[in-house]
Amino acid sequence: PGHGVVRATQIDSLVPHFPVCMRTIHTALRRDSHLRYFGRQQYGLFLKGIGLSVEEALVFWRTSFSKCTDEKFNKEYRYNIRHNYGLEGNRRNYKPRSCAQILTDAAPGANEYHGCPYRHFSEDNLVAAIQGLGVSDQGVLRGVREDVRNKQYHVACTRVFEATHKAAGVSSPVGVGVGMESVTHPNLYFDRSKQFAR
Ligand code: SF4
Repeated sequence: PGHGVVRATQIDSLVPHFPVCMRTIHTALRRDSHLRYFGRQQYGLFLKGIGLSVEEALVFWRTSFSKCTDEKFNKEYRYNIRHNYGLEGNRRNYKPRSCAQILTDAAPGANEYHGCPYRHFSEDNLVAAIQGLGVSDQGVLRGVREDVRNKQYHVACTRVFEATHKAAGVSSPVGVGVGMESVTHPNLYFDRSKQFAR
């Protein structure tokens, strides 16, 4: 991941290319003008992976946390953002989290939006979220329910990728034709989605 340069002001327009996990976090951020730690980590590293520089990340989070004072922002959030870019503390250059990592992270608690919706949402909330992406095909929705019951979360995610990219000519069975066997990384989902938009 990490091609091109993405500006803070472009993030909202890129959301249609995000997998459900990142859309969920983004929606909560826009609604609450706030996100708790694990959501900031998961989303912040994903945004880094799509090409947001540390300067633009600071702009993005500062403007998104619109109810927060500069003083509080600088004290509580700035360090972590810079840390994710290897500019503080141990100076590790952190990578965006893969689906496998996200699936094994601590499940989201109250007022938390990180994690994988295929795993952490109730089945009905998940189906509602997917319908919200414009997926109405009952076969697809049934398939997603079966996938999550079988704990095949990445298969469900791939199924939804295909259903939401059908207009671009994807009509093959799950895992074939989208250029990936199945979704293994949120940034891969984003990259593939961008490719379809070309
Ligand atoms: Fe995100 Fe991966 Fe879950 Fe898809 S399978 S929603 S990309 S964590």
